[in-house]
Amino acid sequence: MIVDRQGRRFRNLRVSLTAACNYACTYCVPDGKRLVAAQDELSAEAMARGVAYLIEAAGIERLRITGGEPLVSPKLETFLASVSTLGLDDISLTTNGQLLSRKLPVLQAAGIRRLNVSLDTMDAEAFRGIARGGDLRSVLMGMEQASQAGMKIKVNMVPLRGQNLDQVMPLLDYCLERGYELRFIELMRMGHLARDSNSFLQQFVSLDELLRLIGDHHEYLQADAPVDATALRYRIPGKGFFGVIANESVPFCRTCSRLRLSSTGWLHGCLSSSNRHYVGDLLDKPRHQALPALQGLLVKALGDKQAVAFSGGATVMKIIGG
Ligand code: SAM
Repeated sequence: MIVDRQGRRFRNLRVSLTAACNYACTYCVPDGKRLVAAQDELSAEAMARGVAYLIEAAGIERLRITGGEPLVSPKLETFLASVSTLGLDDISLTTNGQLLSRKLPVLQAAGIRRLNVSLDTMDAEAFRGIARGGDLRSVLMGMEQASQAGMKIKVNMVPLRGQNLDQVMPLLDYCLERGYELRFIELMRMGHLARDSNSFLQQFVSLDELLRLIGDHHEYLQADAPVDATALRYRIPGKGFFGVIANESVPFCRTCSRLRLSSTGWLHGCLSSSNRHYVGDLLDKPRHQALPALQGLLVKALGDKQAVAFSGGATVMKIIGG
C-alpha cells in the first residue's frame, strides 16, 4: 500500500469515461463550445483493466464514474459490465441527468445504487443560461425515475453569485421533499477561474454565506461524516440532510484519498496540480508487467497532493471529472 507522510493513501478512484459532454456550463467551459471525445480516448476494456490494476496497485475500494458526461459515452455499458465484477465496495456515477431516464436500465443492470446529479437551478431559463445544453424537465424526470427505482440521489449545485443564488432555497426544498441530499459545491479555482481571480471572486459564494441563507429558513445541525469525506454534512431536523463541499472555506486536502484516471489514460493525484502521469500504455500490458510500473507512478501521483489546501489548478473539471 502506498501511503504518504501525512498518512494519506488512494482509496477512491474517479474515472472520467469521456471528455465529451452535452452541456457547456459557464463555469466549466467559458467559450461555450461543447466538448467532444478525444481522438486518443481509451477503450472501455482498457479503462476497466485500469480500474482492476489500480485496485491491486493502489488499494482502490470505491469507484465513481464521471466525465465529461458519462451517459453520452458509447463505452458506458461495456465498462460497467466489466467493473461491476471487480469486487469494489461501491460504484457510483456523477451525471448531469439529461439522459438518465434512457440509461437507467444499464445502470441498474450494473448494480449502481448511488447517483450524483448536477443541477444548478430549478428555473428553466436560468438552467439554459448556465448549462447551455439539455433541459430541466429531463433532469427532474430522470431523478424521479431513478429514485423510484430505489437509487440514492445526491444533487450537486454550484452556487454562483449573480446566476443562481435565488435558487438555493427552491432547490434545497425540492430535494428535502423528495429525499435527495443536496450538496453545494463551493466554486473551485480551476481552468480559466484559476487564471482569472476577478471572475472567480465575483461568482464565489462561501460556506458561511450559504449557511446564513439556509439558516434564515431552516434550523440545521452539523451531522457526522466519514473522515475522508469532502462534504460537511448538516441535518435539518424532521426534514433531511444537505452537504457543503467547502474546498475554499474548509479545505480537505489533509484527508484526501482521491485518485483520478482520465479518458485518455492520465492519472491525476490532485486537482490542484497540473502534474499528471501517463498510464495508457501500461493498460495493454499483462498484470505482472503493468503493476510495478504503475506503483512507481502512483508514488509520484500521491506526491502531487497539496499538504493543506486547494490552491487552484490549470486542469479543468470537464477533462478529469468532478
Ligand atoms: N457531466 C457530469 C455532471 O454534470 O455531473 C460529470 C462531470 S462535471 C465536471 C462534475 C461536477 O463538477 C459537476 O457537479 C459540476 O458542477 C462540477 N464543477 C465543474 N467545474 C467546477 C468548478 N470550477 N467548481 C466547482 N465545481 C465544478
